[in-house]
Amino acid sequence: MLKWTRAHRIAAKFIRYASEQPLRLISKTLPSLEVGSCWTCYPVTIEALWSASDRKSERDSRRCLAMANKKELRVYNSMTQQKEVFRPAGEGKVGMYVCGVTAYDFSHLGHGRAAVAFDVLYRYLLHLGYEVIYVRNFTDVDDKIIRRANETGENPLDLSNRFCQEYLTDMADLQCLPPTHQPRVSDHMEQIKDMITQIIDNDCGYVVDGDVFFAVDKISNYGCLSGQKLENQRAGERVAVDSRKRNPADFALWKAAKPGEPSWESSWGLGRPGWHIECSAMSAHYLSFKFDIHGGGIDLIFPHHENEIAQSRAACQESCVSHWMHNGHVTNNNEKMSKSLGNFFTIRQITERYHPLALRHFLISAHYRSPLNYSVLQLESASEAVYYIYQTLQDCEDTLSSFREATPSEGTEPKGKTVRVLPDADKCIKGLRKDFHDKMVDDLNTSHVLTGAFQDALKFINNHTNALKKKQQKQRQSAIIQSLSEIEKEVKDVLDILGLLPPLTSSEILQQLKGKALIRADLTEEQLSCLIEERSSARREKDFAKTDRIRADLTAKGIALMDVGTETIWRPCVPVEQEEKLPS
Ligand SMILES: [Zn+2]
Repeated sequence: MLKWTRAHRIAAKFIRYASEQPLRLISKTLPSLEVGSCWTCYPVTIEALWSASDRKSERDSRRCLAMANKKELRVYNSMTQQKEVFRPAGEGKVGMYVCGVTAYDFSHLGHGRAAVAFDVLYRYLLHLGYEVIYVRNFTDVDDKIIRRANETGENPLDLSNRFCQEYLTDMADLQCLPPTHQPRVSDHMEQIKDMITQIIDNDCGYVVDGDVFFAVDKISNYGCLSGQKLENQRAGERVAVDSRKRNPADFALWKAAKPGEPSWESSWGLGRPGWHIECSAMSAHYLSFKFDIHGGGIDLIFPHHENEIAQSRAACQESCVSHWMHNGHVTNNNEKMSKSLGNFFTIRQITERYHPLALRHFLISAHYRSPLNYSVLQLESASEAVYYIYQTLQDCEDTLSSFREATPSEGTEPKGKTVRVLPDADKCIKGLRKDFHDKMVDDLNTSHVLTGAFQDALKFINNHTNALKKKQQKQRQSAIIQSLSEIEKEVKDVLDILGLLPPLTSSEILQQLKGKALIRADLTEEQLSCLIEERSSARREKDFAKTDRIRADLTAKGIALMDVGTETIWRPCVPVEQEEKLPS
């Protein structure tokens, strides 16, 4: 009996080990299987081995492969102002905190950019095999929310909850994966109050009339991230300084309640947290005081992130974020797009006219740290690029499925021998992998990731789907089919890591893109059909002036007509006047 219990204990240990150390598991477990003392232990152990090799070590091997290529991921650290090799503190595990939105209105393009930039990072880290705990907060208690709620007569928490939901809808549209945790301030009052207490106990905060302030003088390296020097901060120049502050740069950790504002009980009286403390408290709660990546928009460096560092260090001396990452602004006519300047577009305003995938394509077309200028032309080009990708994939799928139906054993020779891909296809796949990896490990340089080798792969698909339609030798036909299948998979892998592969069929995506093109052209499908019909009858009557005019009018609106035999089909295009203005 004792022997059996021991065997089970060993098996349980294997399973634990399998999840923690999958790569070392195989070498350790195989010999022990030979020594194996009990038959019950065998299947359990084998299952543990199997699941480890199946899931975890596949991820580990990807990470090892990336390391073996001697090209580890390098990211720009705003703290050291240089690109650094990314090495998380825990092996294979990453803790990442990104500042989210203050939910009092629809989110604008700048919010979309930050979310997409860190979603690309999240997806790439997952692809490299890391287990990532990704935390992105919602600020649901704030001056702006209270002000807006007073205007609309709504409860502030109801108002912010409504806009949190709208934000999540935008995020789903933009194919941003849900973070592991999306904490809200109103749900974390205890953690926030505990941290403020800790800061006061450590003599870095002081209470005045129910307000609690952070004493910046108590932190020796205040300004380490932003480079701001305390003596240079003449806060009183622009805003009247609260005379109760010991130093003009001191900031609020807790604000005493004002009439009509939401408030919570605390040892300093009724009140609510200042803005900065929530991120220190929530990041520590979900990721501990030491974690790998803290991200956000570049405008958060000062004062928000500087104050976060000060608070976290005041609460826990050992607190440390290894990599600070910041995305650039979105500009409009080269001016920062912001709510205060009134020159912003909401994500919703853009996705009414452009497919969310086109918006995402546009957002990743610049390096995440560079400023990105909003431009209708670039959105048009992004739409066109996405249409081309999915048209290519659709053609490939159509061609492959017609061959699969005709020859179900496609991909294998009669004797089960695997068909080799064409040498060109092999080169194309290796080129795409290398190009993609080289760009991504270089501080996530997505700006040209869909050009070069990616375009070569699409070209390969287009050329070979056409070639397949012509008569081919059986052996070459099999090789083309195998090549197309493998390149299609590589292209989809790249799209998936970039968040450009939604769970829809290519044909559904093409339909949606066409729907948006019709909205931009201010035409219904029926109106377009009538125009196409009108042109077809003009064509039959050889009234070429009229056929040309209808085609030109539609092209100017972003609808391209193509005559295929006697039939006329259409696809979206960059409206012609805009195309003329495209930079060469
Ligand atoms: Zn924050």
